[in-house]
Amino acid sequence: MPELPEVETVRQTILPSVTGRQIDMISPLTPGVYLSGGLDASGSIITDVRRRGKYLLLDLIPQDGLHGPLIMLVHLRMTGRLLLRERDETPPRHTHLRLRLTRPDQPDNPIWLDFHDTRRFGRVWLLTADPEGRPVGAPGGYDALGPEPLGPEFSAAWLQGLRDKRKNTSLKAFLLDQTVIAGLGNIYADESLFAAKLAPYQSVGTVSDTQFSQLVDAVRQVLADAVSCQGTSLRDYVDGWNRKGRFQDCLMAYGRAGQPCRICGTVMRKMKLAGRTTCWCPDCQSS
Ligand SMILES: [Zn+2]
Repeated sequence: MPELPEVETVRQTILPSVTGRQIDMISPLTPGVYLSGGLDASGSIITDVRRRGKYLLLDLIPQDGLHGPLIMLVHLRMTGRLLLRERDETPPRHTHLRLRLTRPDQPDNPIWLDFHDTRRFGRVWLLTADPEGRPVGAPGGYDALGPEPLGPEFSAAWLQGLRDKRKNTSLKAFLLDQTVIAGLGNIYADESLFAAKLAPYQSVGTVSDTQFSQLVDAVRQVLADAVSCQGTSLRDYVDGWNRKGRFQDCLMAYGRAGQPCRICGTVMRKMKLAGRTTCWCPDCQSS
């Protein structure tokens, strides 16, 4: 599943190509994937592409004078992709939504942005924007998202403030909780705990202030490194130009059970936590 580094990479790859372009045609190809709520994005200009957790937000300014700003909110879920195309080829199988984008001063030079998803769990919503630029009526969980891990609100103090309320929660489940921190999934939770030298099964209530600081630093470093490698491509993930990421070559913990730890050589272990396979080094991450 695409996590923060993959969604951020998609954002960075599509941003320069779509910003300033007008949606001159919008083609929903599969019922139930594009949820417009009766709004119409046709004719809108794309002014920005933002990310919040694992969501992408395309900011739209309608040109009909009937609507205020709109937001096209995208969640890739398991296998969703946003793919740019420079030619009007037949949409490949599993393409569920296609936008044709032109520059107002170059109407004969379009590009296409496809939402492609083999598992079809991903969704695209069209929503109005409130005066602060937040989507109105966003799907479950969006408004409850915790701080962005690469932003200033994510801090040891924020995590310490949650320690009593979540004292019996494992650190792995804590990091996967999108209300605690927005954008982590199984890969980067395992990688962050390895980098912080913390055991994934340790209870939040027993984590010291110093350990929370280590965890914050580790999360930030792991995510920044993964973004700089254009994300992790193990199965489906590609960026907006259909290119794989490189962070799969740098994984220290995720998927490495049974292999020697890259730091100490101890055989890595796995266990189920929060319903997810979790890999860790019993020596480096003894807490
Ligand atoms: Zn180790």
